[in-house]
Amino acid sequence: MTTDTEKAAEWVNATAELKIAGKTIRLEMPVPAGPTRLAKLLPFFRYLADSFVDLSVENAQAEGLTVSCKQGCGACCRQLVPISEIETRRLAEVVGDMPEPRKSKILARFEEARMRLQEAGLLEKLRRPNSVRDEEVDPLGLEYFRQGIACPFLEEESCSIYAERPLACREYLVVTPAENCAKPTVDSIESVKLVARVAKTVRGLDAERSREGARWVPLILALEWAETHPDETLQSLGTDLVRDVFDRLMRRNAAAAKEGGGSGS
Ligand code: SF4
Repeated sequence: MTTDTEKAAEWVNATAELKIAGKTIRLEMPVPAGPTRLAKLLPFFRYLADSFVDLSVENAQAEGLTVSCKQGCGACCRQLVPISEIETRRLAEVVGDMPEPRKSKILARFEEARMRLQEAGLLEKLRRPNSVRDEEVDPLGLEYFRQGIACPFLEEESCSIYAERPLACREYLVVTPAENCAKPTVDSIESVKLVARVAKTVRGLDAERSREGARWVPLILALEWAETHPDETLQSLGTDLVRDVFDRLMRRNAAAAKEGGGSGS
C-alpha cells in the first residue's frame, strides 16, 4: 500500500493504492487535514466499504456465485445489526433532520422495538453489548431474529435511508437463496467473501477511541445510545486516522491470509 496527500484548504486528498485479493485498487477521497474526530471520516469509511464490496462481488461472480440480494428483499433487515458508536450518532442526526410526520413515525417504530425487546427479555443485554461474549453472539442474533422486529428504516421491504445505511448493512450480501435469509440458522447463510472488512475495523477503532469503548451497538438501540453517549472520542489528524484504518485492514488481511481464511471475520 502507498499513501499520499495533497493539501487543499482544510481538507487533503487521501489516496491509496492497495493490492488486495490479487487485484490493485486505487482509492481517493478528501479527508480533514487537521485534528478531527472519527465521526468526520464516516463518508470516507462508506466509500471504502462500497469500493471493497464491489471488488468482493466481482470476485464472487468470477467464481460463478450469484448475489441474491436485490431491492425489495429486506429479510436481513430483521437481523441484529452491529454498528459503531459514530454511526449511532449519525443515525440520530438523520432522524432528527427528517420532516414531520416522517420523523415521528420512525421514532415510534424505535420505541415499539424497544418495548418488544423489553417484553422478550433482550433489552438489558443489548444495552450492554460489551457484556455479550463471543460464544453468545450467534444465539443472541437468532433469538433477536425470532422476534421479527423490522428495522425502523425498512419501508416496503427496502431501506428508506439507503445512502445513510450503516457500514454493516453495506457489507452484508449473500450468495445463498433469499428464502434462507427469511429463516436463518447458523449454517444456512453464505455471505459474499469480503476482501476487507471496513465495518468491523471501524468499530474496533471507534471502541479504542471512545469513552464507553463499545465494541458494537445494536442498530435498533442507536437513537437511545446516541442520546446518552455524546461524542467524546479523541481527536487526531485526519490523515493519521486514515493510515491507521488502512494499517488495520492490511494487518487483518495478512492474518487471515496466513490462516487461509480470506479476509477473516
Ligand atoms: S438501515 Fe436499511 S439496510 Fe440497514 S437494516 Fe435498516 S433498513 Fe436494512
